[in-house]
Amino acid sequence: MTKFSSSLPQLVLVGVPNVGKSSLVNRLLGARQAIVHQDAHTTRDTAQHICQLGERSLYLRDTPGYAPKGERLHQAAMTQLDKALIEADVLAMVINASAAISSDERRLAVRLHKTGKPIILIANQIDKADAKQERYLALGITTIVGVSAHHNLGIEELTTAVLKALPDDEGAEAPEPATTALALIGRPNVGKSSLLNHLVGEDISIVSEEPGTTRDTITKDVQVEDQIWRFIDTAGIRRPGKIGRGVEKFSLVRTQAAIEAADICLLVLDIGELATGQDQRLAGLIEEAGRGLVIVVNKADQLEMSESDIKRVDRVLRSAFEFVAWAPYVIVSAETGLHIDELKSQIASVARRLGKKYSTRELNTLLEKIVAKQPPTTGTFLRPRLNYVVQTEIRPLTLRIFGTHPEKIHFSYKRYIENSLRASYDLAGVAVRVEFVSKYKQDREEQDETSHRRTR
Ligand code: GDP
Repeated sequence: MTKFSSSLPQLVLVGVPNVGKSSLVNRLLGARQAIVHQDAHTTRDTAQHICQLGERSLYLRDTPGYAPKGERLHQAAMTQLDKALIEADVLAMVINASAAISSDERRLAVRLHKTGKPIILIANQIDKADAKQERYLALGITTIVGVSAHHNLGIEELTTAVLKALPDDEGAEAPEPATTALALIGRPNVGKSSLLNHLVGEDISIVSEEPGTTRDTITKDVQVEDQIWRFIDTAGIRRPGKIGRGVEKFSLVRTQAAIEAADICLLVLDIGELATGQDQRLAGLIEEAGRGLVIVVNKADQLEMSESDIKRVDRVLRSAFEFVAWAPYVIVSAETGLHIDELKSQIASVARRLGKKYSTRELNTLLEKIVAKQPPTTGTFLRPRLNYVVQTEIRPLTLRIFGTHPEKIHFSYKRYIENSLRASYDLAGVAVRVEFVSKYKQDREEQDETSHRRTR
């Protein structure tokens, strides 16, 4: 399965306790009216914020103070630290400019150097000491910036140093994943195995008149031009009445596993029995999972494919799969090979679109236009604002939009944003997720948390 990668680079702040790390976080966030977000899966002590530094958006991750060996929290803190170091793009170690370098700090620096990642040394409280002191070099970190979080000194310089160290790829075409996982999804007997044979060009799965013969999962890698496709083929699922026992239940589980494992699902339909409830249900599962989708209408050789046939197919698909109107469809015949090349080129295009990152600046310009054209309303006196958007995931393409009273915005407004996005970018076959997050609510929760900690 392709690992979902975050599109934002990650800056991780480390340091021993009491060097002013938290003040610096507040300064970096506050000075730029940044968006604060306590990530759901991070613990209380490892806060992750989305932060705007100059032109770039990034995750700013604050780690717990480095706990010396023997301290009660040593192990837990080290586990969190190591996790953060693995996920980091750039590391920043905060020290107190006017204090001596401690042995804990030396140990911490060794840990950082082991990652091989760019490191910035931040000498805080520079109002009390000179930024250029030789003793700082004991840590082996060559990029040194003096700041005062409290007096707002050196922040520009720090921003420049961080931007220089960040991976230089926002807004650029993300490197295509080496492998795109594809799953043929569909009811039994629609022709999944036959299609697989065409697509991989080799007789690896058994084609049979008996429904459900392709019981075991088969994976097969093929190189198609510059892409590698990994096919995950599974047995089809039975009609609803029959789900629940033995092999059939197993197949549904397998189908769901295949959807999960896939980057793109090829939903295979039988042209003679188009868009059954089961087909729609499968499309629903694919949409929920946020996977790419191409609809494959198979067995075209069974119809004359007159103009009226084509129109009818189009009409039925449009209405039955309206909820995934973004998914392209291809009419093929695994029997005669009709339009298999077109199917291949559709898959290749969707694979290419799937790995794309969008620049924060471009997205925000677009959001402004979208909101200006039709602002969100609630049917009450409340006028929610949507201030800022950032792409937080590549697969599925996830946009997190920060604003006020997001919970009051009608759900159809997400669809409106998605459709506007689709009108601006070529996103055929790509699932899009839009999340609204309250800036104020998150801010307040964090403040409560901080004051709670202080009073403990
Ligand atoms: P699966 O259960 O979805 O994997 O379906 P299979 O690939 O095993 O195909 C089921 C049956 O449909 C087999 O008898 C195939 O020969 C037949 N079949 C598959 N594709 C086509 C097609 O494009 N046209 C026609 N006429 N028959 C097909």
